[in-house]
Amino acid sequence: MAYKGVAVAAATAVAVVGTIAYLDHVRTSDPEYRKKVKARKAAAREAKIAALAALKEKAKAEAEAAKAEAAEAAASSDKDAVGAFFVAQMQAGQEALNKGDLDGCATHFANAVTVSETPIDILVYLKQSIPEELFSLMVKKIDPEVLRDKYFDNFPGEDTGLRVEPTDIKYKQNCMFAVKDFAEGDVFHTEKPFLSALLPDMDPAGYCGLCAIVITDVVPCAQNCGQEFYCSTDCRDVAFGSHHAILCSGAKFSDPTDPMAMLVAHTKSTGRKEVLMVGKALAQVFNPKPVRDCTADIAHLSFDEPLPAPNEMVKKEFALLLPVLTAKVEQAEQILTLDSYTAMLSKIKRNAIPFTTHPNPKGLMVKSGHAVYLAGSFMNHSCDPNVKISFVKKTNQIQYTARKAIKAGDEVCFAYNGFSMKKTEERRAELKKAFAFDCMCGKCVPEVPQPKLSMEHLEKKLAEQKKATENMKNKSTPSPEQKAEDELE
Ligand SMILES: [Zn+2]
Ligand SMILES: [Zn+2]
Ligand SMILES: [Zn+2]
Repeated sequence: MAYKGVAVAAATAVAVVGTIAYLDHVRTSDPEYRKKVKARKAAAREAKIAALAALKEKAKAEAEAAKAEAAEAAASSDKDAVGAFFVAQMQAGQEALNKGDLDGCATHFANAVTVSETPIDILVYLKQSIPEELFSLMVKKIDPEVLRDKYFDNFPGEDTGLRVEPTDIKYKQNCMFAVKDFAEGDVFHTEKPFLSALLPDMDPAGYCGLCAIVITDVVPCAQNCGQEFYCSTDCRDVAFGSHHAILCSGAKFSDPTDPMAMLVAHTKSTGRKEVLMVGKALAQVFNPKPVRDCTADIAHLSFDEPLPAPNEMVKKEFALLLPVLTAKVEQAEQILTLDSYTAMLSKIKRNAIPFTTHPNPKGLMVKSGHAVYLAGSFMNHSCDPNVKISFVKKTNQIQYTARKAIKAGDEVCFAYNGFSMKKTEERRAELKKAFAFDCMCGKCVPEVPQPKLSMEHLEKKLAEQKKATENMKNKSTPSPEQKAEDELE
């Protein structure tokens, strides 16, 4: 992915190389000598470029072939063949890494994750053992459907007492279930958003661009852009390392013809926040060195209805956002189409939760922005929810509290738009407008079945997964006896 950071590094390299060349020039100013050296260097450089290109092509073809094989292996019922393929891909990844072929390495590791029966273990292992940049590159190569089915199937971890499981109820695919009992009033989970935006009409200098808290000591962006301000240097650095590196216009922001300045002016005049949220999401995906990689988090966001056709406003906003991204990411134009923009917009619209961080002059807490949360985006809406959400320490960090007693196996749901006392039809119309779905909760449609997780079924599934992990570990690290046996053969 092309990125200005790379260009800056290249410019620095050119400057350093330039200085050395100048010193060389002082030493050997014979014109013939210089001509000969120049020709020799050019020939050597061309040969090197050609060799590198050939190597790259070869590695790419190999990795592509392996990818096709991975899809085939994943669909295969021959467990031994899948296991052998997994081990081979892990080894090929390691070899590519040793050669410095990061792209090939990422492809092979992604193939291994794709076929693995316990991808969460592999992902956790890789996350700890390979460089952040390589991990991020690898995650981008894993099919989002695989991530959705496998990675999040195991999310969000045993200790939370929560679990995402698919259901056979048509309009609800993956649901968040409690796997232990919670008493009324239990705070069972808190999390920070992976995407957050203040309301467009709010003064950016008044609220932190990351955690949304009311700022007491203003910390500006290090590039002094004036687009975002922060409550602390920590928030500033995390914001820059996630979305702001791509979106920051620096001093150019004060020029009204700057693409980002035009985009912000549009959100202010229309009061529409969606385009900025999509921009922040894409900026995180495009960021080659994110402080926290949320590509997988964004990839799982669901929107199950057919995508709406983009209206004139959506087309206009897409046209405003594209130059902002292409200014830093050359390939954005090829990657981002009106269709993919509309898809991302629908997903964010469906999953963004309004948050409150401060009171109005009358002392009532008021909406200050919208954010998307990982666990939160797996929880369905209910008009009679068993979970209440609130925000921690006047920031956009969310907290989930049991509104009533929750039993293991119950689906956990909260009210996306806040608890409403309105009539059913009115409530459903509001939800449809704000979140683009027809509410099928037990209160709206009492006759439809609600999801329930069988704990017996879950225990059986977990035992099988554990066994598969053990098998996989035994396969990838042969016992000393087996090693000796292999050597004899
Ligand atoms: Zn902050
Ligand atoms: Zn900035
Ligand atoms: Zn409902």
